[in-house]
Amino acid sequence: MQTSPVFTLSGEAVGLELLVHDLKTVFESKGYDYQSEPETPRMVLNLITSAKPQPYRRRAQATMVISLLELPKVPDNLIAELYPYLVRALSNMLVVYVSGVGAHFLTLELGQYFEPEGPRFAERLFERIEPIASSVLVVANQFDPDLEPELWKGDALSQSISAAGRKLADWDLLPTAFPLEDILPPEDFRHVKRLYGIGGLSYGNLSTRKDDTRFWMSASGVNKANLREVGRDILLVKDYDIAKNAMLLSVPPGVEPRRVSVDAIEHWMIYREHPQVGAIIHVHAWMEGAPSTQFNYPCGTYELADAVAQKVREATDPSQAVVGLKNHGLTITGRSLEDILNRIEGRLLRQVPMS
Ligand SMILES: [Zn+2]
Repeated sequence: MQTSPVFTLSGEAVGLELLVHDLKTVFESKGYDYQSEPETPRMVLNLITSAKPQPYRRRAQATMVISLLELPKVPDNLIAELYPYLVRALSNMLVVYVSGVGAHFLTLELGQYFEPEGPRFAERLFERIEPIASSVLVVANQFDPDLEPELWKGDALSQSISAAGRKLADWDLLPTAFPLEDILPPEDFRHVKRLYGIGGLSYGNLSTRKDDTRFWMSASGVNKANLREVGRDILLVKDYDIAKNAMLLSVPPGVEPRRVSVDAIEHWMIYREHPQVGAIIHVHAWMEGAPSTQFNYPCGTYELADAVAQKVREATDPSQAVVGLKNHGLTITGRSLEDILNRIEGRLLRQVPMS
């Protein structure tokens, strides 16, 4: 028998009692099981105040924390003013409720969208929240010091990643990540980095196929304009272990490895399925007319990877696909990194449409 996912509430619903009650009712009617202090809930509705955005300290990575905050009005500079609440409360998503107006959503990937108050309000919020609450992060890494010696210093393919990273930086397509370390105490910053695999210098990642099963990929939290060292800046992904829910990486012995980009699971799915795909680039930018995923699953989740892989599958030529990640960015496949760069040069819009 399949057990229903458990959810709980944390914090105090000052002024939000009615909305919280409605949301709780909807979650229960959709098969979620409410418990008051579960060990490892699937989803936590974390009620915060602007004076004290109290974090919910999850015990397992599988717990998705949705923070809910009421404000009298929406700030003009939405991301700059609201993103700190999202991360201070150690949440996967922030919902800012403005009474009589509606709810603004903000994701870790800087996705932002609005749901107006009105009929079926709680249901519509549920539909926005549930895919995040039910998605599974694949951000664990297993490092095996089994990289063949001739690859310890990289090869022509890993060098093509360095070159492509420099080019993307030249084109200003690697926006600076939100400066998490400036708004979080050190232990929370480490927690956020560990938890979501984000908190780096810039958004975006690159990879290129090494052979039938393996690919080189940029590390998480590094400057993509300056990718040099194997095991530190560029990693060789050899597989995904479904039982451990971890990416398997071959690294040189004696190197303190960095984690691979959180989107490794997505690239792994695409390479495995399409032998003709030789390279993949992900940027937080947009291209006119790109077919897009239906929902903005969080970075590094199996669900996002699956949704993108599906769009690649649907492309006329999966090795030349440009896939939009809703409220997030693009994943572009190619025969090589050069092929991708040639196709996208001058064609990307820096602003990702939000809906
Ligand atoms: Zn991204």
